[in-house]
Amino acid sequence: MNQRAVRKSLALPLAAIAASALALGAVPAGAAAAPPSSAVAAPASDACRLPAAVGGLGSGFPVDDQALPAVGDLKAALLLVDFDDHPASAASADEAEANLASGVEYLERVSGGRLDVTTTTSDGWVRMPEPSTSYPFERGLSYEDHVRYIGDAIAAADDTFDFSDVDVVWVTATREAPNITYSPTTNFLDVTADGNHLTHAVTFGYDQWRWGGLVLAHESGHTLGLPDLYLFEAPPEDPGNYHAAVGGWDLMGLISGAGPEYFAWHRWQLGWLDDAQVVCAGDDRTTSARLAPVARSGEALPGQAAMVVYPVSETRAVVVENRQPVGYDEGIEARGALVYTVDTSVPSGEGPVRVVDSTPGSADGLDDAPFAAGSSWTEPTTGAELTFRAGPAGTLKVTVQP
Ligand SMILES: [Zn+2]
Repeated sequence: MNQRAVRKSLALPLAAIAASALALGAVPAGAAAAPPSSAVAAPASDACRLPAAVGGLGSGFPVDDQALPAVGDLKAALLLVDFDDHPASAASADEAEANLASGVEYLERVSGGRLDVTTTTSDGWVRMPEPSTSYPFERGLSYEDHVRYIGDAIAAADDTFDFSDVDVVWVTATREAPNITYSPTTNFLDVTADGNHLTHAVTFGYDQWRWGGLVLAHESGHTLGLPDLYLFEAPPEDPGNYHAAVGGWDLMGLISGAGPEYFAWHRWQLGWLDDAQVVCAGDDRTTSARLAPVARSGEALPGQAAMVVYPVSETRAVVVENRQPVGYDEGIEARGALVYTVDTSVPSGEGPVRVVDSTPGSADGLDDAPFAAGSSWTEPTTGAELTFRAGPAGTLKVTVQP
């Protein structure tokens, strides 16, 4: 979830989803010089770098100008807060800090080390000036309520905490305060402390104990400009299925999904992939590429691309990436070519990314969406044929034939 200053009040999609989740190298056709088994990763052309066609968080280039840089150092202040009505024990500070650590590790691993997060934690619990019940998380937190909550935490910590070089403020509430229910993000904080204008903040509420530390990676995705990939409204033909767009294939869709690796497309958007790892298919030539498992794309192995992109309109592209049970994808049910469409005109929460299901109607939903090696798929708007073949060491050969 992400809050904008312009939004007067805030619906609770993530909380709602949480509840429901619980219930529940281009090769020109004539270029015969390239042997079929070789991987050729030509630089991505501008034709594949689809421009953002919607304001705010989305899947186009560049990311929203209010996003923090995703490459380089990110300095985070982690403020542990408790309340007069829900005091925390001193001993529980370590547990609160540890719960979010895996989210920081995720960001550093998935970025291939391009994002370096330095977390400075408050010296124990910081007592908030108001009781926990004065912050209306359970009644639908407005932007103003959220800024008051974060601002109170910063003010309470300010005597003993140096905010002068902080990029993002993370406020995590004691587990003793279950009415701080969920974990919103804002990129429009507008609080100054120690001479530093603070603009980005995330609250970690009680739901962090259900999600675990990956909730930090989800919310940080918004800080870096990524959209929500679950649906704020379930499709009429599939009532209640807020995960009809991407299932559990990216943690911007479902934090607890089996395949929480960020999509290759979003890694490219964030600057976590080199252009040479993106193979851009054209509309008048056959394109082949050898894809590394997306979880290994941070290693940028020579000859192994991270994805094939096939633009089908000014704002839409078909993307193919290789999902294998490695890294954060260890628990996936089906492996192979994950095909999805990206639409840069679709805003956060409305399905900017949609996974193509290789087995539509199966009982497993999108869990078995990948196309197995040896199969193919015809892109419906252009008739291009995409074929998928197994390669050595978990790689996948993808060919796009217009
Ligand atoms: Zn979100």
